[in-house]
Amino acid sequence: MRASQTVTEQSCLLSIVLPLFNEEAVLPMLHRRLLASVAHVPGGVEIVYVDDGSSDGSPELLKQLHASCAMVSVLRFSRNFGKEQAITAGLQFASGAAVIVMDSDLQHPPEMIPAMLQAWRDGADVVNMRRRSRADETWLKRQAARSFYRAINRLSDMPIPEDVGDFRLFSRRAVDALNQLHERNRFMKGLFAWIGYRQVTLDFDCGERAAGHSKWRFRQLWHFAIEGITAFSVAPLKVATKVGLACALLSIALGLSFFVRALAFGDPVPGFPTVIVVVLMLGGLQMLAIGVLGEYIARLSLESKRRPLFLIESYEPATAYATRFQQVRRVDVD
Ligand code: UDP
Ligand code: MG
Repeated sequence: MRASQTVTEQSCLLSIVLPLFNEEAVLPMLHRRLLASVAHVPGGVEIVYVDDGSSDGSPELLKQLHASCAMVSVLRFSRNFGKEQAITAGLQFASGAAVIVMDSDLQHPPEMIPAMLQAWRDGADVVNMRRRSRADETWLKRQAARSFYRAINRLSDMPIPEDVGDFRLFSRRAVDALNQLHERNRFMKGLFAWIGYRQVTLDFDCGERAAGHSKWRFRQLWHFAIEGITAFSVAPLKVATKVGLACALLSIALGLSFFVRALAFGDPVPGFPTVIVVVLMLGGLQMLAIGVLGEYIARLSLESKRRPLFLIESYEPATAYATRFQQVRRVDVD
């Protein structure tokens, strides 16, 4: 029997997965607010902190939280693998019938948890949390985000909702579906949309980061956009074919027109500037097409190595459910 099926039958009701990287400044406040928000959730709660190779005081704080709070599971990576990997690991280790993923910097308010659970009880498999305003971000970041959503939604067949990040709730079957996706290129918004099922969207006010600073840089956003587009669309590859065809047709038409003009009117064939413009344009287009090919081939090459997505240094299951988890392991080994 598969572990996930066994877990569903006897596990806690709700798991909360929190990827974190160097968040010592927020962690105590985060945990307090989480506990206050889940105080009235019936059936048990597991809080899965995924330490993505933090180098500050976070591991020590997590150790203390694990010792003092029976609901806390701590998963620690062998190094920093990135937020997407941390979410992937958290989803694999979470045992709840419903699993919530949220950032650890309190930009995703834990106070929304009861509303998300209600939507799940009403039948949703995925509860997407959409931020009401991006007013706190710079004009440039807002425009970049808007252009990105416009581009990806035009290029991919599957709609990716705008302004919905990693703050979501998943039912057990949605988590099991996500756990089957082993690709290395983990564009989470795309994977979350790809699974389908009944999705509902709730709005929330995205707060300021409670402490510390964002780990995102503008350059990473560019990589993020390329990841998203290459993961969910092959349209850029087809563009090269279409542009190539158009150029070929154009050159035939141009050649014919030169020929006719030379024969009928005795025009001299225009020389140097035309040639330079055409050569540069075609050269540029070819380099662009090769670049696009390169983006896809690079990903194929990484994917073909089939390395694990992350390596785990330690896993401390929540003591409240440790015996259940051990039973699950035994079933799994049998
Ligand atoms: N994070 C992570 N690994 C990383 C970078 C970030 O687990 O390599 C976590 C971080 O601790 C936070 C969440 O991902 O809980 C969002 O990160 P951040 O606030 O830096 O991003 P932003 O909110 O600016 O998009
Ligand atoms: Mg943040």
